[in-house]
Amino acid sequence: MPHTTTMNSTVIPLRPAQAPDRERRRRAPKGRQVDPRALQDVRETLAELPLRRDLLIEHLHALQDRFRQLTTAHLAALAQLLRLSQAEVYEVASFYHHFDVVRENADGSFDAPPRLTVRVCAGLSCELAGARGLLQRLPALLDADVRVVAAPCVGRCAEAPVAVVHQRPVPQATPESVADEVAAGRIRDELPPAIGYDTYRAAGGYRLLQDCVQGRRDVEAVLQAMDDAGLRGLGGAGFPAGRKWRIVRAEPAPRLMAVNIDEGEPGTFKDRHYLERDPHRFLEGMLVAAWAVGVEAVYIYLRDEYHGCRGLLQAELARLQADPPVPLPRIELRRGAGAYICGEESAMIESIEGKRGMPRLRPPYVAQAGLFGRPTLEHNFETLYWVREILERGPQWFASHGRHGRRGLRSFSVSGRVRRPGVHLAPAGITLRELIDEHCGGMAEGHELYAYLPGGASGGILPARLADLPLDFDTLQPHGCFIGSAAIIVLSQHDRAVDAARNLMRFFEDESCGQCTPCRVGTAKARRLIEQERWDVALLTQLSQVMRDASICGLGQAAPNPIDCVLKYFAHELEPAA
Ligand code: SF4
Repeated sequence: MPHTTTMNSTVIPLRPAQAPDRERRRRAPKGRQVDPRALQDVRETLAELPLRRDLLIEHLHALQDRFRQLTTAHLAALAQLLRLSQAEVYEVASFYHHFDVVRENADGSFDAPPRLTVRVCAGLSCELAGARGLLQRLPALLDADVRVVAAPCVGRCAEAPVAVVHQRPVPQATPESVADEVAAGRIRDELPPAIGYDTYRAAGGYRLLQDCVQGRRDVEAVLQAMDDAGLRGLGGAGFPAGRKWRIVRAEPAPRLMAVNIDEGEPGTFKDRHYLERDPHRFLEGMLVAAWAVGVEAVYIYLRDEYHGCRGLLQAELARLQADPPVPLPRIELRRGAGAYICGEESAMIESIEGKRGMPRLRPPYVAQAGLFGRPTLEHNFETLYWVREILERGPQWFASHGRHGRRGLRSFSVSGRVRRPGVHLAPAGITLRELIDEHCGGMAEGHELYAYLPGGASGGILPARLADLPLDFDTLQPHGCFIGSAAIIVLSQHDRAVDAARNLMRFFEDESCGQCTPCRVGTAKARRLIEQERWDVALLTQLSQVMRDASICGLGQAAPNPIDCVLKYFAHELEPAA
């Protein structure tokens, strides 16, 4: 009886099926084994990339781009190559929307990935323009191996509704126009020509940077100009740029810089607008800031939805680095992977380090201990875009704009029921009514102003009677709102604030990173409560307070804004019809 085992004194014969298992275990270490073919795939795919832990998301992109999905076999092989635990790689891959993680079937095989993915933007502006109908009707026009999914805002709200065929955005999409793109195999984003490196330099570009680096401008004068211009962080937080530069400069070297082009706030698309047209104006501002603060390396974090911008930036950075006007710091372009929370500065830093985009508890602040634990200057794209203009034209030029007691310029991303949606550069403090009349060509045909979102998904909802408030940092808080990144979504008499709040809460529920309970559970519960026809106002009020008080970051703290605004300004929508 060769196969036996003992338990105390009793001899128990092994069941026949156990013997091969045991043999297998003897030949290999415990746990999931790495498939040699998967390891070979991963080695080949990553041949051009360093095997650094902070590049994990870049590695995952490379695999996803090649195999159209991430199998657990490839993840295990990647973990072995990076000397990480498989759990660490899996948790990162499964955190981001744009990675499709696939587990093996019982027989060890993997299901084939879809041939193509079409994302239909489910953001509020696209929903207003008919995205739901598009999402319902589109699959019937496509082959079964084309996957259609709803996606959070893709940053093209002025062209709503938008679908993205693999990487190619389809503006004002209809089921037929999207099906045509799929049938024609048009799947890449193609941008109109931008101002390239040679043209930019020929028009005087990078002279400012040379003046700075070669000693014709001094750091203190540059910092003072930033202060005098009143330039504030234009990603939403509004922290004074000059003060931030001074704070980071005072921290010990080596210092780093992280540029936020994640632009995931529904309704916001201004950064993409400028980047597609004039990338070097931003890069020069970035390098001036890097010089003033004394940073060693710059990381640019670009959202994955901006495929055309990524190609453009890669090409223009290569030209800049091939013929630099001054010695450059190290510059790395990093690719997001579809996570709204990575627009939060500390979550973005985690993502650049190759981790899940989970906001950090503060203190310490990013300026003190940010990227890789080093003092980090974190800036939004647009803030840096204005640096050259301010230094060349003088801070007074920037500060001289403004209305209703406010100073500076703001780039408003306007979408919804206006005649001319788009990015409109206007004086800070302009009112919504003035913005619509002077810059947007008035309301769209057949629409009257009913309500507006002054700051994207998180900035709240205001009624038309408050359309004469100055739009700027600090002006809307008394009304329960904020301007954030100046994403204006305009609603008309054909829309309801209640429906907008439902759309926004679905978004927050999907995008909560899940780290803290008030936000993870609160957004889900709030969504369920407001989907009811009758709202439990007392419960929603309590829930809103808990989320504001106890959430770690701005997502959970601001998520109740749409609900609170409905209760404050649009309670009539909740009353049963007579
Ligand atoms: Fe994550 Fe939400 Fe908590 Fe922010 S508030 S850390 S998004 S769970």
